Amino acid sequence: MEVLIVILGLLFGSFLNVCIARLPRHESIARPRSRCPRCGAAIAAWDNIPVLSYLLLRGRCRACRKPISWRYPAVEIILPLLWLLCWAWFGLTIHGIGMAVLCFLLLGLAVMDAETMRLPDAFTLPGIVLGIVYSGAICGKWARCAALSLGWAASFAGLILAIAGIYWLLRRRSGMGLGDAKLMAMIAAWLGPSQGVLVLFLGVVAAAIYGLALSVSRRKMEGSVALPFGAFLCVAGIYTLFVGQRIIYWYLGFFH
Ligand SMILES: [Zn+2]
Repeated sequence: MEVLIVILGLLFGSFLNVCIARLPRHESIARPRSRCPRCGAAIAAWDNIPVLSYLLLRGRCRACRKPISWRYPAVEIILPLLWLLCWAWFGLTIHGIGMAVLCFLLLGLAVMDAETMRLPDAFTLPGIVLGIVYSGAICGKWARCAALSLGWAASFAGLILAIAGIYWLLRRRSGMGLGDAKLMAMIAAWLGPSQGVLVLFLGVVAAAIYGLALSVSRRKMEGSVALPFGAFLCVAGIYTLFVGQRIIYWYLGFFH
């Protein structure tokens, strides 16, 4: 079983790399064939084997010898690891398969936001729909649970837009965008309100620590650096989907 999960993870990780490279630029993920982004040479099938080709080519394009981004093998290694964790944590259940899909979406969105500051609709909008379907599927009363999931998605999108609006009024600068609202709606559709709040909290704290560390290391405060806030939400989402329930029980324990 583990071997099958790793092979599937490598293949989907490779597909995720294609999505990451093309979706933020509104290019088709179906065609053309993969090309070297530097010299445009088509990549042969035998040079497109996940992780292995990167190692055999020693991280360089066969045609132009320019370096290939380490992001490619990194995504191809991280996705199978996350899928193994899903399997170990939740088993081969609707819960486990659902969380594996959510890991795929969140890992892709994290890298896209970090690289391009974009969170493509091609991931967030189907992600919201899948989250509603998933919430209905794992619950006995599917219609009621799916409707609740939709409601939480809308509420969290509204919350992000409200925070963004207040921030704009105070600072005349946009800190979060529509993409962050759709991302948060997706996370709430999958994980529900309590884990949604936890993701938002952890994402804000992580982004604040990162921003602070960045401003200290750069010393001079010439204008502020735009942070890929969505990437922090995605990482917080992946963390929360594994351990969020435990953190919430631990926290609620203080009130008993
Ligand atoms: Zn090349």
